[in-house]
Amino acid sequence: MTVRAAAKVNLVLGVGRVRADGMHPLDTVYQAVSLYDDVRASPSEQWEVAVRSVGDVDCSGVPLDEGNLAVRAGQLLAAHHGLDRAARLDIDKGIPVAGGLAGGSADAAAALVALDRLWQLRTSDEDLLDLAARLGSDVPFALLGGTAHGAGRGELVTPVADTGDHWWVVVPHDVGLSTPAVYGELDRLHPDAPAVPRSSEAVLAALLVGDHAALGAALHNDLEDPAVSLRPELGERLALVRSHHDGPVLLSGSGPTVLGLSPTHEHATATRGALLEAGVPVVHVVTGPVAGAHVVELAG
Ligand code: ATP
Repeated sequence: MTVRAAAKVNLVLGVGRVRADGMHPLDTVYQAVSLYDDVRASPSEQWEVAVRSVGDVDCSGVPLDEGNLAVRAGQLLAAHHGLDRAARLDIDKGIPVAGGLAGGSADAAAALVALDRLWQLRTSDEDLLDLAARLGSDVPFALLGGTAHGAGRGELVTPVADTGDHWWVVVPHDVGLSTPAVYGELDRLHPDAPAVPRSSEAVLAALLVGDHAALGAALHNDLEDPAVSLRPELGERLALVRSHHDGPVLLSGSGPTVLGLSPTHEHATATRGALLEAGVPVVHVVTGPVAGAHVVELAG
């Protein structure tokens, strides 16, 4: 049973002051984009996980034990049904690790769907979303895919109308950034941040009417400044992408991946060519919105 799950980008990421439970309130718009992890689930007496790199993804930071979010997803699903079961999970990783693209969350969502099928559990969508929220703030969106508004700590997802055909230039960095460290830096830089995060209204309005220029003008990420503060060379990377991309550029999630929005595939490909020529080693061109975690039939 193989399930494919997509990376996410945040078109807007507003972050409010840290809550009493240590989480940050978010107002965000997620979009699933065409960079994928495939998770293959097969029967096994004990939990096993193996990770294989697709393309040039460095998988060395991915835990191969119960620290892997896909295994935790499987264990949570089994416990939810009162079952004492295990499985083997083989992950083909096309989503850069610790890149702000929610690859771990994608694997967790894929594992939930794959194991639900493998074990023939027929878990309701509502229960799957509930389990997903317990695994991590980005996991419910990884199940849903498409374009969605995220509230709460990001786990309360509502699909939004998005008729656009968006193209993204995705510039990964070879050294990942820790999401908790970036949130910690945000708290240090802005101890008086408002409790209610910046609204994503402008992005939602632009998506509704399919206004590419308005969408570009409304893109924003509150984690960009703290990520650059922690890793100053990220500022140089952002400036380099801005100098080669005729369009909006922002940090993806907690970084360090940098994104450029393009109106067409050709436009994005031109930026990719210019960045490769400027010496950036890896640049992807992807499109969104794409589907959430779904079963795939693979040849061979
Ligand atoms: P976030 O969802 O917090 O924005 P991210 O996209 O920046 O995360 P991930 O690729 O999800 O980063 O990985 C963050 C960390 O989670 C990794 O450094 C790794 O230690 C751990 N991890 C656990 N399971 C996985 C998994 N299946 N794939 C990738 N990382 C995982």
